[in-house]
Order: sequence, then structure tokens, then C-alpha cells
Amino acid sequence: MAVVGAGLAGLSCARVLRRSGAYVEMFEQDRIIGGRMATARIGSVSYDHGAQYLTARSAQFKAYLDELNATGYVSRWKPHSAAGIDGSGQMMPWYVGTPGMSSIVRPLAEGVRIHTGRRVHTITRVDRAWYLWFDDETKAGPFAAVAITVPAPQAQLLLGPVADIGESLRRVRILPCWALMVRLDQRSLPDQDVFSDMSDVIRWISRNNSKPGRTARGETIVVHASPKWSREVEDQEPEIVAEEMWSEVCHVLALPPVRPSQMTAHLWRYGLVDQSLGESFIYSSQHNVGIAGDWCLGRLGEHAFESGSALGRAIVASLD
Ligand SMILES: Cc1cc2nc3c(=O)[nH]c(=O)nc-3n(C[C@H](O)[C@H](O)[C@H](O)COP(=O)(O)OP(=O)(O)OC[C@H]3O[C@@H](n4cnc5c(N)ncnc54)[C@H](O)[C@@H]3O)c2cc1C
Repeated sequence: MAVVGAGLAGLSCARVLRRSGAYVEMFEQDRIIGGRMATARIGSVSYDHGAQYLTARSAQFKAYLDELNATGYVSRWKPHSAAGIDGSGQMMPWYVGTPGMSSIVRPLAEGVRIHTGRRVHTITRVDRAWYLWFDDETKAGPFAAVAITVPAPQAQLLLGPVADIGESLRRVRILPCWALMVRLDQRSLPDQDVFSDMSDVIRWISRNNSKPGRTARGETIVVHASPKWSREVEDQEPEIVAEEMWSEVCHVLALPPVRPSQMTAHLWRYGLVDQSLGESFIYSSQHNVGIAGDWCLGRLGEHAFESGSALGRAIVASLD
């Protein structure tokens, strides 16, 4: 079986398939796995520039986080909140991957054959088998079933051969989000570790090195821009966006003049789900192809996990 996209949805789908005894191959366009559950390494410094923390509402995701906790892949994060008391503002515990958010997906990859740097541009069906085509015009297959776990707009492009599924993705809306990673030589942020909804431009600021298991001299900071502003400057050069975001951070936090020793902006073009599908996944047992992702159910890591796992179970059931 083939899974396209190695984010949390794809990897949780792959785990279900593998546990059923299937041989699973995954194809990921990036050089690394994890998708938006990401840890970027710039020089010797790491930043969680995508998802910041995870919460668990469902028993299934809670059980997975407990499993990771027991093996040291996650820890609870209790940042100094606006209330000034560690973790007091949390309705539910916040969990972070250790030493980075990408640790959350690592155990799911066990036993799965993963091909990175392989962007799938087309899927074709010949004699009831699927083939995947890549940018260099090579192909992989045959596969009995394919799970597509990429953001909805990208899934829609791939699902050309199964137009009725692709059509239902039209209602999904995913907004861009610019992320800024900043390193300061001196500790400079005010006492809080997290700040949210600071202005029309800045949605989130966190002291990345306040998370457990992070080591950094000075201070590492992750900033997320608001979806509205991110959309306005979607096509801007990252260097210009970085300067604008940092200037806004200094303004909203009234920081003394301080020049970062490192500053990098990254655009999550399909970052935050604004309108979800409203179904856990879609699977066509006629074509043996399905789709999953956070955008099926909501906008959180937990939604990606549930959607991917549910698609995996549907594929196993249909091929039994
Ligand atoms: C800035 C930001 C902050 C967030 N904060 C939080 C948070 O605090 N808490 C929380 O729970 N969630 C948060 N999220 C959401 C969370 O990151 C996502 O819900 C989750 O990671 C989505 O997983 P996924 O597998 O559905 O998608 P993705 O992680 O996007 O995975 C899809 C994968 O498919 C790959 N791909 C795409 N097209 C192709 C192709 N054609 N061929 C091969 N591979 C392809 C991509 O490279 C990617 O690796 C945040 C997201 C962002 C962007």
C-alpha cells in the first residue's frame, strides 16, 4: 500500500496499515518527515516553527501521547502564562515533543518504508492497481490502495482520476501562516513564555527554549503571524517578512532595541484550517483510494492523528 505525505495523518494511517500486516511505502516531498509537526534546525539551534503544543480530547490520542510520554518522546509544557503561574491557563495539559515537536511522529514511522524528497504529481490506475508518478517522471507501484494525506488543495490536484472525491474538497479552506524563528544572545522577552493575539499582525509568540528538553544559550523565539496578514504578504520575500514581523514583535512587547543573532521566516502555505470537511476521512472502496488530514476534522494535530488512523482502519476493512 502507498501513503502520500508523511505528516501526522499519513504516519498514523501508515501505522494502522502496518499493524494489520500490510507492507507500507510512504512518499514525502520534503527531505524530512513530520509536515507541520516540524522542528527546524538552523545551525546548532532548533525551533518548533509549526505546531506549538498538542492537546488530547479523544481517548485514542490521549493513549498515544501517554505512550510517547512513557518513552520520553513527549513532555508536558507548563509555560509562564499571562496569569503568571505555570500552566494555570491550560484547560487541558499541553504536550510537546522532546527534544523537538518532530519527535511526536517518529515512533509512527517504525517498520514503514519512507521515501523522502519524492513529490507525487499524479496517480494513475491501471488494471485495478495504483501507480504514483514523481517530478523526475519515474513511477512507483503497483499498489493495492493509496492513502493521500496532503493538504486539501494538493489532494484535489492528485485526485483527478477520482473526480467525485476531489469535488467534495472544494469547501475546505486552509489559510497561510508565516512563522518567524529568532535567536537572541541575551534573554530579552518579558516574563511570560507565551503571548497570543498580540496585534493584527502577530497571533502568537513563544519562548521556544522554555519547552522541556530544549537547550540554547540566550533565547529562541517562535512567532506566528495572523492568517489575514500572512495572506496579504504571502508572496513577499522571507527576509522582508522577517524584518516586518520582528519590528512588530519589538513594538507589541515594548522590547529594548535588540538585534537577533539569527532570524528566519518560513511560510506555511497550507498552514491553518479555516473551514474543515466535517468528515473523518473519505475512502472509495470502489477505487481503493482515500484521503485524510487535519482539515477533514478540524485544525489540530489531534485531528490529523484521528483522521489518518480512521482512514487506515477503513482501508484494512475494505481489503479484508
Ligand atoms: C503555524 C502552525 C501552528 C500550529 N499550531 C498547532 C498547535 O499548537 N497545536 C496543534 O494541535 N496543531 C497545531 N497546528 C496544526 C498541526 O500542525 C496540523 O494539524 C498537523 O500537523 C497536520 O498534519 P497532517 O498530516 O494532516 O498535514 P501535514 O503536516 O501538512 O502533512 C502533509 C505532508 O504531505 C506532504 N506533501 C504535500 N504534497 C505532497 C505531494 N504531492 N507528494 C508528497 N508529499 C506531499 C507535505 O510535505 C507534508 O509533509 C499548527 C499548524 C501550523 C502551520
